[in-house]
Amino acid sequence: MEKNRKKGTLYIVVPCYNEEEALCSSAEALLEKLDILRKNGIVSEKSRIVFVDDGSSDGTWELIEQLYAKHQEIAGLRFAHNRGHQNAILAGMMYAKDYCDYTITIDADLQQDINAMEHFIEEYEKGSEIVFGVRNSRNTDGFFKKLSATLFYKIMRFMGAKIYENSADYRLMSAKALDALSAYDEVNLFLRGIIPDIGLKSSVVYFDVFPRRQGASKYSLSKMVTLAADGITSFSVKPIRLVFGMGILALLVGFGMIIHIIYEHYFGYTTDGWSSILMSIWVLGGAILLSLGIIGEYVGRNYLETKKRPRYYFWETLSHDWKKEE
Ligand code: UDP
Ligand code: MG
Repeated sequence: MEKNRKKGTLYIVVPCYNEEEALCSSAEALLEKLDILRKNGIVSEKSRIVFVDDGSSDGTWELIEQLYAKHQEIAGLRFAHNRGHQNAILAGMMYAKDYCDYTITIDADLQQDINAMEHFIEEYEKGSEIVFGVRNSRNTDGFFKKLSATLFYKIMRFMGAKIYENSADYRLMSAKALDALSAYDEVNLFLRGIIPDIGLKSSVVYFDVFPRRQGASKYSLSKMVTLAADGITSFSVKPIRLVFGMGILALLVGFGMIIHIIYEHYFGYTTDGWSSILMSIWVLGGAILLSLGIIGEYVGRNYLETKKRPRYYFWETLSHDWKKEE
């Protein structure tokens, strides 16, 4: 059943965590964009913007309430807790899945160029189920962010994840792709890794990134580290194999050492061993701790997965869609 791919219903999903400074101007820009898209007959009249408040502690939710009261095309979802960017995007998409033909996810600070949306939609109309946004450059990022991001994508690819370098969570997903995504049950979410794994027809659109205009980044160092660890562990068991390989290597060196020690015992100076002993204690100790840490990451994640706790819990939902159905 191939639907007419012209003039589909678009839902723009916007995760917001303590974004009171950025939200007003972002909402304005998004409403304007949606208006243009509708007027030009690119998207249907039923298209919407969904703000997902990821348990903000500032006035973000009140702003969403005001926007919702003023605009028919705005919906709001509110988490009871801060569940992180990935969960906020997922919740927005899973909500939108029942109403839309496709979603586009974008950050609340609109650092990503909203004018790329038309290109996303063109690709969808040509038949892509998923359109990945890939950033043109990282010139607007600080040194640390640039370095950590580059390293992260290099590691991810080395570990075997089919991830686009410099891809962002700015992407289009069709209802079919969202349906496929809803079957992924994992609690430790890393969408940039899972979505290419769906395997439906996809394409790439390049976009520019601007510096954040209002507020500060909501991605703390610990949130970035968690995201990276989720990314790597959810995608491959290669690190565990690496640990195994290191163990074998250490064992081989150990055997070599036995021969060396026996030789030294009979023909050499046994009192001279202080430095080599100390070295091996530190090197081996370090390797053991590191290996335990890696295995611990997997065991810990396994533990969290088996508990099957809900990924998020909605505190409040504001939707003109539902009102109409009642
Ligand atoms: N965000 C979120 N939950 C969090 C952290 C961030 O929903 O726990 C949202 C945030 O409001 C923004 C997006 O994720 O819309 C990207 O965050 P940010 O712009 O702070 O990250 P950066 O651009 O610095 O990587
Ligand atoms: Mg940002």
